[in-house]
Amino acid sequence: MDIAPTISELLDIPMVPPDGKVIPEVIEYATTYDCQKVVLVIVDSLGYSLYRYFTENGGIFQNVRQLAESGMVLRCQSTADHTSPAIASIFTGYLPTNHHVYATDDIYVERAKDSLNPKIKTILEWAYDAGRKSAIVIESHGADTFLDRINEVFGVPDSQDIIEYDSKITDAAVDALESKPDILAVHLRAIDRYAHRAQTWEELRYAAGTVDVNIGRIVENAEKGTLFMICGDHPIHANEKWISSASKAWIGERQDQLVALVVGAC
Ligand SMILES: [Zn+2]
Repeated sequence: MDIAPTISELLDIPMVPPDGKVIPEVIEYATTYDCQKVVLVIVDSLGYSLYRYFTENGGIFQNVRQLAESGMVLRCQSTADHTSPAIASIFTGYLPTNHHVYATDDIYVERAKDSLNPKIKTILEWAYDAGRKSAIVIESHGADTFLDRINEVFGVPDSQDIIEYDSKITDAAVDALESKPDILAVHLRAIDRYAHRAQTWEELRYAAGTVDVNIGRIVENAEKGTLFMICGDHPIHANEKWISSASKAWIGERQDQLVALVVGAC
């Protein structure tokens, strides 16, 4: 929930101060690199321990690591153990107990109660209202909640083939970058889907590899001086099938609710 207020500070976008706090290291870094734009990539299920596992075993996540090398990797507390409330916290800066968005449709319910409620207003909407260009690329149902509220909304229908789905998300993100948004948000889901459905670490590493390739494509197409914030929404769902074959280091930390936030400029 510190991500939205940090973007607000960095891009000088006014917002009602939320529960989250500005991350000073990120502001300092972005100022040094003179970043005027932000691309926020939410990597579903990228817990901090899993991130470390991917980067330390088998050289997965080369593109993300490259960003991290000039920037930083922060451990963040996630606000929920599943996607909708956690992503709502990333976008609004509020705890789930304050934004009340536990499923996509809750956004409409909360808006009906109070259309001006700042606790359900995303950093993308604050940006748009301040005259900045904001764009989002997410699953169609979630994308609909942003219609007529920000500059560009790209929805991709959910699919059984999550690799193809993420690839379409990435194509749309590359298209979105052509209009040079001040802030672009993207949600990649392959790791989360594989965590649920795959059986082996090899498959999970494959999913992570595709996520890294997609992030690499987005980085390549971003303007120089763009700050990338790449973060998990919640850790991988604890599941016996992963624990039984995991490394000791990973088992030791898997119980926490820490997610990775990789910050780096391109
Ligand atoms: Zn998720």
